[in-house]
Amino acid sequence: MTDEKKSISSATNIAQALGAVDPAYKSVIPGIYPGTTYEREADGSYPTGRVYSRDQNPNYELPEQLLCALEGGREALLFSSGMSAALAVVQALRPGDHMIAPAVMYWSFRNWLLTVAKEWKLEVSFVPNGDIPALEAAVIPGKTKLLWLETPANPTWVVDDIAEWARVAKEAGAHLAVDNTVATPLLTNPLKLGADIVMHSATKYLNGHSDVLAGALITAAEDDFWARVQVNRKAGGAIPGPFEAWLLLRGMRTLHLRVERASQNAMAIARHSEQAKGIRAVLYPGLESHEGHAIAARQMKGGFGGMMSLCIEGGTEAAMAVAARLKLFKRATSLGGVESLVEHRASIEGEGTPCPPDLLRLSIGIESADDLVADIEQALEGRNT
Ligand code: PLP
Repeated sequence: MTDEKKSISSATNIAQALGAVDPAYKSVIPGIYPGTTYEREADGSYPTGRVYSRDQNPNYELPEQLLCALEGGREALLFSSGMSAALAVVQALRPGDHMIAPAVMYWSFRNWLLTVAKEWKLEVSFVPNGDIPALEAAVIPGKTKLLWLETPANPTWVVDDIAEWARVAKEAGAHLAVDNTVATPLLTNPLKLGADIVMHSATKYLNGHSDVLAGALITAAEDDFWARVQVNRKAGGAIPGPFEAWLLLRGMRTLHLRVERASQNAMAIARHSEQAKGIRAVLYPGLESHEGHAIAARQMKGGFGGMMSLCIEGGTEAAMAVAARLKLFKRATSLGGVESLVEHRASIEGEGTPCPPDLLRLSIGIESADDLVADIEQALEGRNT
């Protein structure tokens, strides 16, 4: 990437996908290249440098370059899902290595760490979110090789200090990987705060339209650990198809507008919900009442994101009933799309979840905030009818 591209604002780089024009026909959007294999010259050389599409499809390159520019990284890799991106990092560890993760994090990844990772002789410690002394105490000198952080953490949106985690990782001689799915590269850049690798479930805000499953990793350094991650992708082939990669880039071209609007809507709904009857707690890092607000205000630039949770007075049944009465919010899992979603998380996560039973997770979309507030109001009022 040229220095000129680096100095251009994120909004311009996003809207223009780094200004790229299709080299073959000068179309202002890239083509879709479904070919899986590339012709060799008679002398045995590969004139375009491409051999096989498992890691060399042209449709991966622009989204990867754009993610590099947005996160301030050296290299990015697309994956077929956020989970496959996360697993490529963990599988770069060696049997007997130790890693640390927060107690509250994306449940499916936590479950994998608790089950499969342990069977493959990886030692995993979970520490309470936001507790740096506990993190320091969990380090096993010479053995701890990876710290995994998710902030704000799904589904309570507890906030951790990335720079502090980076300091602990550095002192331990370990890598720090940060799941930046919820904050997006618009609001937080973990690499600039000392992290080594950033991970995204590109299924969420990056794509933004609930029609692509994809993941991404961005690295600060092309070191030996990253080389092992590269091998995991190349050999494992957990990559999106060319059409999915193309759709992802199309979605990304409005990322800044969607994130800004979702953050504004979420803040309006959080403020309103703080005053509303029937809500035990509003969990949103943008509220002064949120435990991690001071860190979030320092670490998140330009907004606090579109994810929040409401804890409903009366427990599980009351929360389920409020979800059932919502009309505009769709009852569905996932997050980061243009449409607002609601989910009773504890019943999805099952036994052993740290998620409160009365918690409804809201993924706030880009609709009218007034309409969404009115929908929540009518669902809460229905409690007494
Ligand atoms: N990280 C976070 C914060 C998530 O919310 C999710 C999915 O919900 C993932 C990772 C996994 O991503 P994917 O569903 O793309 O595999």
